[in-house]
Amino acid sequence: MGDRWEVVVDRSVCIGSGMCAATAPDGFRLDTARQSHPVAPEADAAESVLAAAEGCPVEAITLSVSGSGEAVFPPEE
Ligand code: SF4
Repeated sequence: MGDRWEVVVDRSVCIGSGMCAATAPDGFRLDTARQSHPVAPEADAAESVLAAAEGCPVEAITLSVSGSGEAVFPPEE
């Protein structure tokens, strides 16, 4: 079984570009205020979800491994 990731969007940072929802439609949705939120607090580890986090222009998306809390994005220094 693959990893599960905890997905967090910092809405105080999100500028509602919609890039994450376009890149990973299963992972992110924009609400009526054009703020992104994860479809679920956890997601299967997937390239599309990682690409969405990497592609967010304001780095509002944080991914960590469920259980261990190990940083996925942004990667630990
Ligand atoms: S890509 Fe980043 S700024 Fe754009 S909607 Fe998603 S979380 Fe918000």
